[in-house]
Amino acid sequence: YLQVNSLYKNFETKQGTLVVLKDINMLIEQGEFICAVGASGSGKSTLLRQIAGLDKPTTGEVKIDNQIVKGPGPDRGMVFQHYTLYPWMNVQENAEFGLKLQGLSKKARREKASTYLDVVGLSKFAKALPKELSGGMKQRVAIARALASEPKVLLMDEPFGSLDVHTKEAMHEFMLDLWQRTRITVFMITHDVEEAVFLSNRIYALGARPGTVRKEMVIQLPDRSHAVKRHAVFHDY
Ligand code: ATP
Ligand code: MG
Repeated sequence: YLQVNSLYKNFETKQGTLVVLKDINMLIEQGEFICAVGASGSGKSTLLRQIAGLDKPTTGEVKIDNQIVKGPGPDRGMVFQHYTLYPWMNVQENAEFGLKLQGLSKKARREKASTYLDVVGLSKFAKALPKELSGGMKQRVAIARALASEPKVLLMDEPFGSLDVHTKEAMHEFMLDLWQRTRITVFMITHDVEEAVFLSNRIYALGARPGTVRKEMVIQLPDRSHAVKRHAVFHDY
């Protein structure tokens, strides 16, 4: 599980101390699909960066399976809004990237990456370059790469924010299908409340009122994880 305890994050600016996250507490159980919503500037990316270990909380802690997070690690897979694929590497090489750091052999890296390219329905495109793929496909490569290290939680920051409406819809179906097949724990940031309602079991909402208290609230949704029976269509977006 993923736990955030009494987390505060301040930034020192010319105007003084900016309190971005104030007393954030979250508990995400294994296998949950959780979204956090909030207006621009409410601190969504800041929260994700603390969980990812890319930045340190002012006070408080993030725990994964009761271990305090001290930096980035393979137990957290990351997907960002803008496809962070290397344009000179093909899909397979992009998906393998990151596994090197884990000290896996070339053969093991190739197998892991192939497995997860298959999971996202892109086996046929292993040799393609990112520029030959649509936006949705590129994000699926980024998801395969994040899954390849077999993380405990998939962290996503506005992953579909720059996709057109139709691709976005297809990616929503894809995410639900992926989640049903793998039961991966997902923590996804979005400013699209509808998207959050469609995808998640629970929603954390970050309020934005600069200079005042920022606190999250939790919206409990009915569990409709069994209701999802549709299968994503992979190759037409
Ligand atoms: P968006 O929806 O636009 O992505 P967000 O909710 O992700 O917004 P953050 O990027 O987390 O918002 O930023 C929250 C606040 O913290 C903003 O006011 C931003 O200016 C401020 N902030 C973020 N990072 C820093 C930093 N390194 N130094 C100073 N202020 C920062
Ligand atoms: Mg952001």
